[in-house]
Amino acid sequence: MDRLGCVYLVGAGPGDPGLMTLKGRELLSLCDVVVYDHLASERFLDWVPENCRKIYVGKQAGHHSMKQEEINGILVELALSGRTVVRLKGGDPFVFGRGGEEVLALEKHGIPYETVPGVTSAVAVPESAGIPVTHRAVSRSFHVITGHTQAGTECLPPDFGVYGTLPGTLVFLMGLGQLPKIVQQLIDSGKSSDTPAAVIENGTLPGERVIRAPLAQISSRVREAGLGTPAVIVVGDTAAYEMKYRTEGPLAGKRVGITGTEQFAGKLAAALSEQGAQVSWLINMKVEDHIDEAPMQTAYRNLSDYTWLVFTSANGVRLFFQGLFKDGRDYRCLGHVKFAVIGDGTGRELSGYGFNADYMPDTYCAKALADGLVQVAGPGDRLLIARSGGGSPVLTQTLLDAGIRFDDIVLYEVSGRQASSFRPEQEMRLDYITFASASGVRAFFDCMDKAGTGDTANKALGPAGSLKDIRLVCIGAVTAHELERQGYRADITAGQYHIEGLVQAIIKDSFV
Ligand code: SAH
Repeated sequence: MDRLGCVYLVGAGPGDPGLMTLKGRELLSLCDVVVYDHLASERFLDWVPENCRKIYVGKQAGHHSMKQEEINGILVELALSGRTVVRLKGGDPFVFGRGGEEVLALEKHGIPYETVPGVTSAVAVPESAGIPVTHRAVSRSFHVITGHTQAGTECLPPDFGVYGTLPGTLVFLMGLGQLPKIVQQLIDSGKSSDTPAAVIENGTLPGERVIRAPLAQISSRVREAGLGTPAVIVVGDTAAYEMKYRTEGPLAGKRVGITGTEQFAGKLAAALSEQGAQVSWLINMKVEDHIDEAPMQTAYRNLSDYTWLVFTSANGVRLFFQGLFKDGRDYRCLGHVKFAVIGDGTGRELSGYGFNADYMPDTYCAKALADGLVQVAGPGDRLLIARSGGGSPVLTQTLLDAGIRFDDIVLYEVSGRQASSFRPEQEMRLDYITFASASGVRAFFDCMDKAGTGDTANKALGPAGSLKDIRLVCIGAVTAHELERQGYRADITAGQYHIEGLVQAIIKDSFV
């Protein structure tokens, strides 16, 4: 028989991809197959090799999750066929992760395995809200308890009453659905009804929300706020702490809704919270590349025919090179090419690959780029424009009119949907909404349209579904222009194409 594959049970941490271990990340980068549950972040899947098989074994919407025995069976089968498998689990594999059952199944078949610890949400999620699970002289122990058992969601674990008598910090996982019962049992068994309590939703993620209240009131407060899963419940004196460095900050008390990819939103949320703002992630943008599609493949093969490469976004630059390297090509096939970029953000991305732009217009827009290209290129040139689908037709029309040859190829598509951490029913009033791309603007209004007037998504954005009291913030002119097309005027246009520029523009505005 062939060599047996090894199965690595890897903890992914509580959500923020930065909180995964280096060892876990390295294993992800070299496995043949990754078997995963519902993950807090999709970025983990970006770290696996191109040809890695991805097997989802989590809950399907409206369906039960796959039976544990089936998952065990999949792991065993993959290992028997010689695959290196990463079994990726949220938090730590052995904290309510059923990792032990998978280990037993592997042992039964003599399959080699290794467990790789993860940062457990039981500690990291409270910490992210500034709650230490132990604190000198306040809490000398902490207890991690499941809020539901195999017997069904109606059932709390047996002997639950004992927890009410413990002096340390109580941390409940999987308990949100049972919160009223948990509270009742704790109080019945001796916990004081004014014991500090906290519930943290989406801990360590851009959409993190925290509700604190005395034990007797925590359920109703959580219900009012519309908190959802995943959530950790903390009960005990340390739940009153908020050990977070918070400059009261120029944006204290401001609520900012943000749009963008997970990576961008994560960084922007961190930068805004540092200034004191409360941040909600509204729209999750996804970039899907087309580097394997025939048009891009042909373009790569025929690179020697092109004299100019034209980029209209940093994403375009990044994906172009990703596709270039993928088939074993290297920089030498670009030695003869000149580069044009739409603005400094795109230019900076290009420099990261070792190329300086030969042309960049003074103003960041498709028309300026097109006019400039007409000046610098001639009839002997052939341009490759590799950009997102639905890019501005002004660019291509101007080149056509000037008789310059080009190929306009879809390198990627951008789409957006309501971020899962955004709960419209909360009817939260926002002070600002930020947009970092024209496609982000389109996705936002698409979601608004789908929600319909007077519907929850609109209510969340202001009374009677209006955006009129919300200041709309755009990263630059192109984004602002798209907003105009949707019938709205940008209140702020940052003009600097990076996160710090957006944040500073909001701070400046908030002083007015
Ligand atoms: N093995 C995991 C726990 C699995 S049980 C670990 O060590 O973290 C799943 C429960 O973990 C959820 O019901 C929730 O209570 C908690 N949880 C996981 N990630 C969370 C997050 N980012 N925010 C809040 N709760 C989280």
